Amino acid sequence: MNEYLKRVLDETSVKNSNEPEFLQAVKEVLESLEPVIDAHDDYDKNAFLERMVEPERIISFRVPWMDDNGQVHVNRGYRVQFSSLIGPYKGGLRFHPSVNQSIMKFLGFEQIFKNALTGLPIGGGKGGSDFNPKGKSDNEIMRFCQSFMTELYRHIGQDVDVPAGDIGVGAREIGYLFGQYKRIKDTFEGGVLTGKDIVYGGSLARKEATGYGLIFFMREMLKQHNNSLQGKTVTISGSGNVAIYACEKAVEYGAKVVAMCDSNGCIYDKNGIDLELIKQIKEVERGRIKEYLNKHPEAEYIETTKDNYPIWNIKADIALPCATQNEVTLDSAKKLVANGVIAIGEGANMPCTAEATEYFLQNNVLVAPAKAANAGGVATSAIEMSQNSMRYSYTFEEVEEKLDKIMTNIFESCKKASDQYGCSGNYVAGANIAAFQKLAKAMRAQGIV
Ligand code: NDP
Repeated sequence: MNEYLKRVLDETSVKNSNEPEFLQAVKEVLESLEPVIDAHDDYDKNAFLERMVEPERIISFRVPWMDDNGQVHVNRGYRVQFSSLIGPYKGGLRFHPSVNQSIMKFLGFEQIFKNALTGLPIGGGKGGSDFNPKGKSDNEIMRFCQSFMTELYRHIGQDVDVPAGDIGVGAREIGYLFGQYKRIKDTFEGGVLTGKDIVYGGSLARKEATGYGLIFFMREMLKQHNNSLQGKTVTISGSGNVAIYACEKAVEYGAKVVAMCDSNGCIYDKNGIDLELIKQIKEVERGRIKEYLNKHPEAEYIETTKDNYPIWNIKADIALPCATQNEVTLDSAKKLVANGVIAIGEGANMPCTAEATEYFLQNNVLVAPAKAANAGGVATSAIEMSQNSMRYSYTFEEVEEKLDKIMTNIFESCKKASDQYGCSGNYVAGANIAAFQKLAKAMRAQGIV
């Protein structure tokens, strides 16, 4: 490996030795940049990589809140403002008990590259809390969001840092967060959060954007390899925002989705998943996927255990991991390949372990990498910000058309970079290289900051 790359990787590993997810994300990016680094001998002198892997700022804060029984709880809140090179920090908020600094930093780091790929002026950030929204009442969620924003508000702003949703943070949470921000600042700053409800400045098609975007990218990738979604069997992990709308668009393109899951277990319906029912259970009732059996007793439910993540054992042409990081292990990858999978579309962030990705690529399975393939969400958030600035709203069709163009362009950039640097067909490397080239140009232009 290139000396400079190796040194930065070693130093980053020592400095962040207790942050495995962050190191995993950094390693994947840096390793794929080798041909670019080789071609530019001033990167080392100007510490391009060192500056890229060090967040501009990390904020961590206490979030006290009271439950419905009067018991007070304390959670930890985070905002990692990773890079403002090409625009205000931009990235979602995640509420999940697994949240820690390593996860926030890996997500923030990936976000810089993803946002650069969209071609829109947005920097990279991420935030959230180890708060578990599951089983909480609406009032508890509201009190938590208000307490979280009471600290976060001083660090964000429509030209500074613009959070959005992620795992555990949807339109309801964004509403409570926005309400509290507006109350504290006493100003209607529409562009300070994205993923808002339509009635107070949200964008049509934002809810659908990440899932739809994933399928647009998949469509382009398959087309490049003389294939399509028509008639393909698809499995999708998760049953949240990304999974639901990936399912909807995949079906529109003629695919059959046979399995979806939540963190407890997986539904296999060989007749094709009843998506309206999934929406009812997940978006309306906030229930468990197992309830699918109440209406479709002919479907199969397979429980997830510590050693078994059942969805990847099901035979599929295309697998779309849309739940969480590292959910596709090497074991799962082997099963998917043995069952004849032709393409993987990463809807979630870093859902495949490094070994799983390597295995797919070695076995000629096409991989649509998260940074590129799930960028439709943040791209549409940027479109929401533009609408807020213009005090104007696009129609659903206008936003979807823009999203489609953006995803098509992202695929083209990944392809071009992979062709240019001798790794044709490896869109994982292509995405990293294409994003890095843009960021490096901005870094050079802005001097040592
Ligand atoms: P949601 O909270 O809407 O849904 C998450 C889904 O994944 C749920 O079905 C959840 O099951 C499941 N899940 C979460 N954690 C785990 C886990 N540890 N093990 C198994 N299943 C799990 O989140 P989103 O759909 O918004 O996000 C999903 C992924 O997509 C994340 O990686 C996120 O970072 C990424 N992403 C999201 C974007 C967006 O616009 N929302 C944009 C780009 C990326 P359960 O209900 O049981 O917890």
